[in-house]
Amino acid sequence: MADKFQVVVIGGGPGGYVCAIRLSQLGFKTACIESRGSLGGTCLNVGCIPSKSLLNLSEEFNKVQNLSNKGIEIGEVKLNLAKMMKSKDKAVTILTKGVEFLLKKNKVTYFKGTGSFKTKNEILIKDDKNKETLILVDKVIIATGSEPTSLPGIEFDEKIIVSSTGALKLEQVPKKMIIVGGGYIGLEMGSVWSRLGAEVHVVEFLDHITPGMDKEISSEFMKILKKQGINFHMQHEVKGIKKSKLGATVSTIDIKGNKKNFDCNIVLISVGRKPNTNGLNLEKIGVNLDEKKRIKTDKNFKTNLNNVFAIGDVIDGPMLAHKAEDEGIAVAENIAGQSGHVNYDTIPGVVYTSPEVASIGKTEEQLKELNINYKIGKFSFMANSRAKAINHGEGFVKILADEKTDKVLGAHLIGPHAGELIAEIAIAMEFGASSEDIARTCHAHPTFSEAVKEAALSVDKRAIHS
Ligand SMILES: Cc1cc2nc3c(=O)[nH]c(=O)nc-3n(C[C@H](O)[C@H](O)[C@H](O)COP(=O)(O)OP(=O)(O)OC[C@H]3O[C@@H](n4cnc5c(N)ncnc54)[C@H](O)[C@@H]3O)c2cc1C
Repeated sequence: MADKFQVVVIGGGPGGYVCAIRLSQLGFKTACIESRGSLGGTCLNVGCIPSKSLLNLSEEFNKVQNLSNKGIEIGEVKLNLAKMMKSKDKAVTILTKGVEFLLKKNKVTYFKGTGSFKTKNEILIKDDKNKETLILVDKVIIATGSEPTSLPGIEFDEKIIVSSTGALKLEQVPKKMIIVGGGYIGLEMGSVWSRLGAEVHVVEFLDHITPGMDKEISSEFMKILKKQGINFHMQHEVKGIKKSKLGATVSTIDIKGNKKNFDCNIVLISVGRKPNTNGLNLEKIGVNLDEKKRIKTDKNFKTNLNNVFAIGDVIDGPMLAHKAEDEGIAVAENIAGQSGHVNYDTIPGVVYTSPEVASIGKTEEQLKELNINYKIGKFSFMANSRAKAINHGEGFVKILADEKTDKVLGAHLIGPHAGELIAEIAIAMEFGASSEDIARTCHAHPTFSEAVKEAALSVDKRAIHS
């Protein structure tokens, strides 16, 4: 007799496992199916966590090499890449095992295997030895995430032509690395390998990096990365990639029609990710997809079938772990008859380079397009005492507020700990705060957060320290 569950979540990433835990907390008999052999999805296994671990370790390596400028002599600094990778892998293992513990603690049944629909109320699970288990379900949440996309006709071998997954486990520092695509994943990986000694070249089709980011921030970001030694080739289209003796040759054509070949040891293709719906048998049960092959859902994350829902990277919206998590909680609460909700206007985005870049809400470009009148407040970290004290004065905080009501509409930061500072603005925006609310809130001294307060003051041209 097949086991029966009230809700089954397919996919154990940040969307899926968080959703399964919340469902169980709400009293549902819940199962979570994950095919990769460890929980945590892209984020914990081949995304957020290993990349942040390498960003941190490579930054330490870089910092330590420059300590003698600050009067700290520590002798020759050597890189042991294998040990560094082990340290990253250890962080991943601890966290993925932690998620397994959390599922157990919350009485979620964990199935290791690939799930697919037999019917809309029957899920077949195939493990890595091809053993099949059938379970019966009332409701199903699809949280199968996404995978890297390549360029047409080019396949990842994860040795020479790599996706972010391969770039997280290179066995040697490449002499020369080409990164196709100037989005946040490419720039984070480029920073890692540049700090460890690679000559890094970013080839980007557009005239700016990090598409969708406030343009003023993205051009400051590019300037800073250039100073750090990363090379940019903007408005270059990649026409082909061929393996060579050295590694690979990337052929490009720029906007003026000039052709150029880049020889390199490793090429990272970082041009986006595609939703993961293969093998679920969605056609058989009739779940509708959109033009980008994402699962179509309504505002309650319900597909066109009454008992099938979808969340995270596999549906529309920014491909971010915290967006997937919040959707996981919201759909669980909706199923329980509560009012689960995700505010898509206040989802922060962070790039974990040094300095960090963070943004939330509308960019200046979006406000112009929407014909919304706005005021700008800006404050440079050069004038922030904490940043100056530790020689981290690069970057600034920019707050955009409604011209009439002063309500904060967006904020864009580049500077030290920007990824932490953005949380203050997220809370302010959730509460519908004005820039004056932030400006009148006491901020500890000396902290980086004072730059946020000063930017808020600057919205009404009354910053004190600039
Ligand atoms: C290099 C890199 C760095 C990133 N850094 C950040 C960051 O700093 N911050 C951030 O917010 N986001 C980051 N992301 C994005 C983030 O990882 C994703 O947005 C997030 O993991 C999406 O969560 P999800 O639960 O929707 O899907 P996923 O995390 O992709 O999880 C889906 C899971 O479903 C499993 N699965 C698929 N099909 C089946 C099936 N049929 N049966 C069973 N299991 C199945 C997959 O194996 C996978 O483990 C990064 C991504 C990458 C690649």
